[in-house]
Amino acid sequence: MSIRLWRTLLSLFLLTAGPVALADGPREGLWVTPSGFSVPVYGTQLVRGADGSLHASCGRLSQEQIEATYGRSQTVRATMDREVRQAVQAAGVPFTVVYTDPDGAGFNDPVVGPVRKAAFEAVAAAWSNALGGAIPIVIDVRMETDDPNTLASASPTDWVIGEDRVIPLALAAQLNNASVNDGRSDLLVRFNPNHAWDYDLSGNAAPGMVSFVYTALHEVGHGLGFLSLFSHETGQVLTPLPSPFDLWMNRSQADGNRLTARAPEQVLEDLRSGDLYFAGPNAVQAGLASVRPLPLVKLYAPAEWEPGSSASHVDQETYSDPSVGLMRPSDVGGIGASVVDALTAAVMLDLGYPAVAPVVASASRR
Ligand SMILES: [Zn+2]
Repeated sequence: MSIRLWRTLLSLFLLTAGPVALADGPREGLWVTPSGFSVPVYGTQLVRGADGSLHASCGRLSQEQIEATYGRSQTVRATMDREVRQAVQAAGVPFTVVYTDPDGAGFNDPVVGPVRKAAFEAVAAAWSNALGGAIPIVIDVRMETDDPNTLASASPTDWVIGEDRVIPLALAAQLNNASVNDGRSDLLVRFNPNHAWDYDLSGNAAPGMVSFVYTALHEVGHGLGFLSLFSHETGQVLTPLPSPFDLWMNRSQADGNRLTARAPEQVLEDLRSGDLYFAGPNAVQAGLASVRPLPLVKLYAPAEWEPGSSASHVDQETYSDPSVGLMRPSDVGGIGASVVDALTAAVMLDLGYPAVAPVVASASRR
């Protein structure tokens, strides 16, 4: 999507989103985790182009959207009478999907529920093929939001403080080789039930619809830790320490200019520089193997800050190829992919997730 088109779509979004700070676009909100960290929440928002076509773009949710998506959830959670758990595992890390909708609604709908569950479990399986690890990653998933503009959102349920970084729960469990929160949810994932989702497992979407599988793949990536905690208002991280993602952020294609070592006023410029990169060695190798190889992996950092799309996604144009494009900010609605691409998987390794163990050849016959 061109920058100009994005602006058009953004202004449409502003019109429908109610009173917000117009000079800066929607005001980015922060969600306070159970441990008290104030962190962003990422979500896919639906925007309609001038030609009537639908686009889905991912960005940080506003305070109103966070409250509409997560605030009411806690009330429902307190009153719901049961949870439905499903174990999902492919080649790598096991997942436990917890469907926390009330009975008869959302994923527990007697008619559409099974289709929705099959689609989400395909997403969990795709992530299991991309990440190693032995500790089940618990996802609290629900089809509920009071915000009509938010299609889907995801965030780590909480973070823990490590030596030099704050670590999302799913990753902390793998590094600790044990759950760090008594088996409670590591990620919160929410979908809008009132949207025309295409549940096709291919990740494709019919015209006018948005792919549930592709959108979920992308958002779960944020919930697993594909996100920056740098503030575009202060140039400092929002948490006591940077995220694993932040530690690899680098100004310019020359490694050695990590944002964590730069002054806040420099970071403010870096985040809008168009010259922002991710320097993790696995991601760099995956980027070099892509159709537009660069010395480091280019992050999305347009000159004008785009609420939340900036910094926590790979560059829209550079990685337009579907084989590396899952974590681009736009066209999240579906490009026909139903697997975690090589670049995204490599970034997760750089964040600290174990690699999927190679398949051991079966013992030879006597
Ligand atoms: Zn995103």
